[in-house]
Amino acid sequence: MRKPIIAGNWKMYKTLSQAVEFVQEVKTSIPESTKVDAVICAPALFLPSLVKEAEGSALEIGAQTMHFENEGAFTGEISPAQLEDLKVNYVILGHSERREYNNETDESVNKKVHAAFEHGMTPIICVGETLDDREKSHTMVKVSSQVGAALKGLTKDQVAKTVIAYEPIWAIGTGKTATSEDANTVCEGIRKTVADIAGEEAAEAVRIQYGGSVKPANIKELLSMEHIDGALVGGASLEPDSYLQLLEAG
Ligand code: PGA
Repeated sequence: MRKPIIAGNWKMYKTLSQAVEFVQEVKTSIPESTKVDAVICAPALFLPSLVKEAEGSALEIGAQTMHFENEGAFTGEISPAQLEDLKVNYVILGHSERREYNNETDESVNKKVHAAFEHGMTPIICVGETLDDREKSHTMVKVSSQVGAALKGLTKDQVAKTVIAYEPIWAIGTGKTATSEDANTVCEGIRKTVADIAGEEAAEAVRIQYGGSVKPANIKELLSMEHIDGALVGGASLEPDSYLQLLEAG
């Protein structure tokens, strides 16, 4: 059985004090017996404070991106070693916004995935098609090639520990969600791609999230699908109440 993982992606929202308040409120409300892995991927600036605040609770803190090198002349970047030092457990890689605005490519995502494992972090690898891809029935080709590129060179064990977030780009922040059947079909296709790359055992273990306008009103149905093992959530992860409702649905 795969444990569902509900990850909030805060993007460039909140101030430090708002972020700390959120964690203080949420950490006391997550029961020890929670059935999901609860993660918040916060702006890098807040990570030291949030990791400290969440320590000892069921809430885990992740980053939204990182560089693949450990140090160097990369102004404004954050390295895997720096995140490891802060005890960050998760890192989102290849989010469509990073691919679009910050030049994250399949190749750099692959390097970052390797770096995440070298530094004890679980990568949440984002893949997804544009509206144009979908209309041309290219969804599976696009998504499979992104998955294949991201997982290149990993051991089977590493693949099994990976989290993949299927996020159709047209559904992010738009209020449009893929139907749960459509999302499940693509997630099943991703699992088959993983099986081709790393074998059935790794494919059975890998957790595949759906992302794109997930909210308390639609998460139950999405999570009831066989191949959807969690959600990557932007807007609906920003308020404690809404985030806690997402966790409860898991
Ligand atoms: P959304 O964002 O839930 O606001 O659509 C999802 C994401 O970008 O990860």
